[in-house]
Amino acid sequence: MTSQPVRVRFAPSPTGPLHIGGVRTALYNYLFARKHGGQFIFRIEDTDSNRFVPGAEEYIIESFRWLGIQFDEGVGVGGECGPYRQSERKAIYRKYVDQLLAAGKAYIAFDTPSELEQKRQEIKNFQYDARTRLLMRNSLTLTADEVKSLIDGGAQYVVRFLIEPGRDIQVHDMIRGEVVINSTILDDKVLYKSADQLPTYHLANIVDDHLMGITHVIRGEEWLSSAPLHVLLYEAFGWQDSMPRFAHLPLLLKPDGKGKLSKRDGDRLGFPVFPLEWHDPASGEVSSGYREKGYFPEAVINFLALLGWNPGTEQEIFSLSELVEAFDLNRCSKAGAKFDYVKGTWFNHEYILQKSDDEIAPIFDKILKDNGIDEPLERVKQVVSMMKNRINFVHDLWPLCQFFFVPPTGYDEKTVKKRWKEDSALQMERLTEVLRSVDDFSIEGQEAVVMKYIQDNQLHTGDIMNAFRLAVVGAGVGPHMFDITAFLGKEETIRRMEQAIKTLG
Ligand code: GLU
Repeated sequence: MTSQPVRVRFAPSPTGPLHIGGVRTALYNYLFARKHGGQFIFRIEDTDSNRFVPGAEEYIIESFRWLGIQFDEGVGVGGECGPYRQSERKAIYRKYVDQLLAAGKAYIAFDTPSELEQKRQEIKNFQYDARTRLLMRNSLTLTADEVKSLIDGGAQYVVRFLIEPGRDIQVHDMIRGEVVINSTILDDKVLYKSADQLPTYHLANIVDDHLMGITHVIRGEEWLSSAPLHVLLYEAFGWQDSMPRFAHLPLLLKPDGKGKLSKRDGDRLGFPVFPLEWHDPASGEVSSGYREKGYFPEAVINFLALLGWNPGTEQEIFSLSELVEAFDLNRCSKAGAKFDYVKGTWFNHEYILQKSDDEIAPIFDKILKDNGIDEPLERVKQVVSMMKNRINFVHDLWPLCQFFFVPPTGYDEKTVKKRWKEDSALQMERLTEVLRSVDDFSIEGQEAVVMKYIQDNQLHTGDIMNAFRLAVVGAGVGPHMFDITAFLGKEETIRRMEQAIKTLG
């Protein structure tokens, strides 16, 4: 076999927002293409006008733009095999339909929906196949003249694929190995509809994969059941020698049990199943997205890459280029991958730690500004540096760090009960005097003076520091105390002390 350059594609149908599983499929295709120096093609499979959702295509494109996954050819990119939107390829498909009809591998069927419904009533487990097709109204049971006059008279029809029963069809799957299905269970699939003059998914998918020189079809497990039909179509066209290799990826499973991950799981457990927020144009319903939840695209990619693939080492943090380097379809599992969204937040945490304070500060600054706080970026950066190891998302900083920017408006009740003792007001008055005397209000400068004061007066460090924290922060939380007061400065620290003494008494 000559080794052709790898060409893979991501071919979503614009029927709604892209599910996170679809993002993983695209990612694996991308990694595979890059790893093998091949091409990654973006095709829109929109031949089913009933399922078309406005805005879905734009949503998909925006999702990959955000994630930093680039296509080499396709919708929005261009390329030599275009157009890449199937609804714009009408003229291309008809010839292939005719080819199958001429070869007797497909036939024309006129059965109306009500006629089909009647057959379903009459025949138990009705399926349009070798057992039933001769009972139906089609070009196998009508004469050529009848067929012609029906078509000339404007009757609508479909073209069905003629499946020979009793044949074992082999699908060689790069992840699952040999999958064998007997053709008897397949129905004569509709390949084309005269009503919209468009092929159905199956025909358009095969013709386009062939015309676009696709070498590997990497897609979700839900398409495995279509693969035998696709193999038969390749044969029917005489394209079996250039048939792409198949790889059906493992399902994404619910975090807490068996079964496929669904949007409902996300709603129930509080995590997004879409890359970006989606506003349903029909119902107006808004579904949350990873971007809006505060995930970094790198974290989402890293998280998804490890759902169904493993590098065979302990390494968990991978940049996109490291993933390209390490990726191997042979290391994809057959078994479904549990969607551990807690792990997803862990990845985001790791990416926060990896990023410099300079990168995080502007993001936090925007949140501060939204909350009416305008601080020099340098100071925002200081807070980020103190606090970033405690957060999973940049927006976690606001509830955690408000006290750096806003004096307490109240004091946490539980902490007051526990930490504000009878003599606390007096102790804090004395401490305030000590702080007033500190010339060098740096972390070390304060620490030296305050600790000496505590020692010299044989005070209890815990008591003093706990009350001190409550007074300045309003609660029993936060980083090292002198980190906070050095940030606030002498004046603000003393102001907060006086306020607490007055309020708590
Ligand atoms: N249009 C199909 C989808 O929505 C493509 C399946 C395939 O990759 O063959 O996923």
